[in-house]
Amino acid sequence: MTIAYLSLGSNVGNRRRHLLYAISRLRADVATKELQVASFYITEPVGGVVQDNFLNTAVRLDTKRSAESLLTFIHQIEQQQHRHRFIHWGPRTLDLDIIFYGDVQMQTETLTIPHPEAKNRRFVLTPIAELATDTESVSQQVQAWLAVTPDQTKIIKLV
Ligand code: ADP
Ligand code: MG
Repeated sequence: MTIAYLSLGSNVGNRRRHLLYAISRLRADVATKELQVASFYITEPVGGVVQDNFLNTAVRLDTKRSAESLLTFIHQIEQQQHRHRFIHWGPRTLDLDIIFYGDVQMQTETLTIPHPEAKNRRFVLTPIAELATDTESVSQQVQAWLAVTPDQTKIIKLV
């Protein structure tokens, strides 16, 4: 079993429904033992492209899947959302990224962990900071990145 942190985001259509769909699929996976969900955040798009605000959150899951298997699974979840509802609306209906997978550091053609953009994205770091327990190296890493991240975009926590 490995503790993995995933970032979830949507800025098309019913954003909350897309995130809840992804969470329910992850929770129902036979390889998932435990899953916790962070608060939801309304966040400004990063990168200058004019588009709607995002809804973002993160999950912490204890999984039997390898990192590669987890990537395949989250791609399936993303594709199902696109195919069933919003295929003609572009790819941001649902974005799922693996941010941490245990203490693993890896870089292959398909997978870089920790996620290389995490340190530049407050909307990734802030929800993960809610979930990481003090004894996990993820907690220190995320706090260190939050202290120096150049990302100054606004994020609003929903209660
Ligand atoms: P992005 O998330 O960067 O906006 P995509 O969701 O389209 O863009 O992802 C593009 C590719 O990034 C995926 O096909 C996947 O192979 C690769 N990738 C590399 N590292 C990761 C990671 N840690 N989590 C998710 N995808 C990753
Ligand atoms: Mg992605």
